[in-house]
Amino acid sequence: MSSLRGYCGIDCGECDAYIATINRDEALKARTAEQWSKELGIEMKPGELTCLGCKSNVNTKYCGECPIRSCNETKGIEICADCEDYPCERIESFLNQMPQVRTLLDQLNEIRRRFSK
Ligand code: SF4
Ligand code: SF4
Repeated sequence: MSSLRGYCGIDCGECDAYIATINRDEALKARTAEQWSKELGIEMKPGELTCLGCKSNVNTKYCGECPIRSCNETKGIEICADCEDYPCERIESFLNQMPQVRTLLDQLNEIRRRFSK
């Protein structure tokens, strides 16, 4: 699994915060901050969008405080698909907004179940 695949299954390599950070693209950070502020209902400033991916130690405040991330870290797993409790209510509410990520996690979870029999 790519180190840019987040605990929730999202691909951080496709995230505008990550892309803006590695390219030092301040205009993209500004556009992304404006867009995310509207979508998430939380004011975000461009300077707060520095992120090198979910599993790095350089994160946006939003993802740095993500309960899905801390839950995976507590369980010592790399992705929710490897969790005995998948799909829990927390990941369900996230996946309801991210159908393509649900497909990936469902497939990985199915493989994990088959091989753990
Ligand atoms: S952890 Fe960073 S790169 Fe990944 S989704 Fe969150 S903001 Fe984007
Ligand atoms: S309990 Fe839910 S959020 Fe936590 S690791 Fe398992 S599936 Fe992910």
